[in-house]
Amino acid sequence: MTSEISDFTFYNPVKIVFGQNKIEQLSKHIPSDKKVLILYGGGSVKRFGTLDRVKKTLADYETGEFGGIEANPTFGTCMKAVDKINEEDYDYLLAVGGGSVIDGVKFIAAAAEFDGDPIDIFGKGVGTGKKVTSALPFGTILTLPATGSEMNETSVISFPEKKAKVSFSSWDVFPQFSILEPELTYTLPKRQLANGITDSFIHILEQYLTYPVGGMVQDEFAEGLLRILIKIGPDVVDEMNHDYNLRANFMWTATLALNRLLSRGVPGDWSTHALGHEITVLNHTDHARSLSAIMPAVMMVRKLKKWDKLVQYAENVWGITNGSEEEKIDAAILKTVIFFKSIDMPVNLSQVDVKEEDINTLVGQLEKHGNDAISERGDQTLDVSREIYRQALLKDF
Ligand code: NAP
Ligand code: FE
Repeated sequence: MTSEISDFTFYNPVKIVFGQNKIEQLSKHIPSDKKVLILYGGGSVKRFGTLDRVKKTLADYETGEFGGIEANPTFGTCMKAVDKINEEDYDYLLAVGGGSVIDGVKFIAAAAEFDGDPIDIFGKGVGTGKKVTSALPFGTILTLPATGSEMNETSVISFPEKKAKVSFSSWDVFPQFSILEPELTYTLPKRQLANGITDSFIHILEQYLTYPVGGMVQDEFAEGLLRILIKIGPDVVDEMNHDYNLRANFMWTATLALNRLLSRGVPGDWSTHALGHEITVLNHTDHARSLSAIMPAVMMVRKLKKWDKLVQYAENVWGITNGSEEEKIDAAILKTVIFFKSIDMPVNLSQVDVKEEDINTLVGQLEKHGNDAISERGDQTLDVSREIYRQALLKDF
């Protein structure tokens, strides 16, 4: 463990095309000789007219469609898209949807070019974790600000029969471009808006609530983004509030929360995501809801390890200046809980239908997936994770 900013490479080639009527400019971003497979989820893009806009714009291209990528995309569904690509020879992919569709398309793009069984793209007890070395080119049209997947190189895929949810990362699966039209968020229901605010909030915390190394750029950037989410969160989840700037700020914050700017040179935790994924595997809880149900307990159980940053979080994010360090930390944890509650997110495990007898299963899954020494210090053992699950169940905030 070092107390200095570590060496880093920052690379992010994703072209962000932000604003109004950007779908109509798709042909600027996809070479005209490409055969394009348009991929989407359960049908929201059909219901709300986004797919029609895409098809109209790409009228001069040879295109095909693959729908039905589910929330928490599965390996099986994605492999059906790979078969279609191989049978019909597409050479460009276009993801239209939220994080699930984009993550699915990243895997599909890599699997279509993979030398061997694509299951081996994944490690963590699922496959052999072989490196991805090439992928089909693809772009995205984001319909749900939350995951940052539109501007990063990570994909999370579910394996229901193996009871696993595992990620892979590769520079080969950066989107070539991502279209961010804030108006596409106007059709999101309150639950998904709250999920988006929460997932991006917790992405920032996972990169920020670690031991301090003096990364002033990273810290101030993270604190600013957190303050924006706190400020706009309650208005964003008002699904009838179609204020353009509100949604534009939400969308750009969610993207910047996980485009790797915050994490370069500083330690990252990601234990809340590891524990949350096992809850989703267990009972299909929405990704963001699995995280907010765990985060307060992470802060409580890991208080001593995260002491300095929790004080900084209290002071710089929540403006808490009175009291001892411990009083500031406790007040910041409480404010975090109140924030999640204000946007109707769960703050303990009973609210996401996890029971006492499930904890053994959750800890067993963490072990099976190699998550027995997690967090920025690698010192979150299975016993510590068990205690976090226990506190998240017992504590009635
Ligand atoms: P999502 O699973 O992509 O979408 C959730 C729901 O919202 C779907 O039912 C979808 O419907 C609907 N929806 C999407 N856009 C809509 C719109 N504009 N109007 C109305 N409904 C809309 O949600 P997500 O939170 O973006 O993605 C979650 C996944 O991303 C999880 O698997 C999570 O693990 C992963 N993740 C990835 C990263 C990363 O870095 N790659 C980071 C965090 C999380 P349709 O299916 O009908 O379109
Ligand atoms: Fe996430």
